[in-house]
Amino acid sequence: MTGRLIVLTGPSGVGKGTLLKALLERHPELYLSISATTRSPREGEVDGTHYYFYPRDRFEATIEAGALLEWAEFAGNYYGTPIEPVRGRIDRGESMILEIELAGARQVAKIFPTALRIFILPPDLTTLEARIRERATDSEDAIIRRLEQAKVEIAAQGEFDYQIINDDFQTALGELEGLVAQGK
Ligand code: 5GP
Repeated sequence: MTGRLIVLTGPSGVGKGTLLKALLERHPELYLSISATTRSPREGEVDGTHYYFYPRDRFEATIEAGALLEWAEFAGNYYGTPIEPVRGRIDRGESMILEIELAGARQVAKIFPTALRIFILPPDLTTLEARIRERATDSEDAIIRRLEQAKVEIAAQGEFDYQIINDDFQTALGELEGLVAQGK
């Protein structure tokens, strides 16, 4: 596989994280960008591994410094991609995956038109809501905001190069693996 930027987007709770974990286990040559966020860590999330957890003022200073490739506000928090590790990997011919929401994916499409952009869909909205609720780490308010945002994101699926429905996990993983191996 040659070095390439891969953008994975899809509504909260669709299972992007689980798919990516399995993909990265099978493909150690792929790297996942670690985002910065102002959201509080969920149980088990480690600073510097899952996210860089920043207070709001530090995040804003990072934006000001031009150190983010893209950033967006999602369900009341900031999320952004540190630019340096992405540049470094791509320059070295390595592949980097960004797992980001819609506004960020749109920004990346402008900066890196050759990025491979994949959208992950739930089988239906009822299943998505059940998955978000199963996680049970978010407040009711956050759950509602995430569901509203999910509808907006799903409506934009056509902007992406490929769509994968995460109904059967192994099937979805196989499709993702195929796209990443094949390229655009
Ligand atoms: P969560 O709070 O569930 O970890 O993430 C919420 C949303 O933010 C998800 O859709 C996730 O893909 C997105 N996200 C995570 N990191 C970034 C980032 O660096 N930039 C953008 N634009 N979205 C991100």
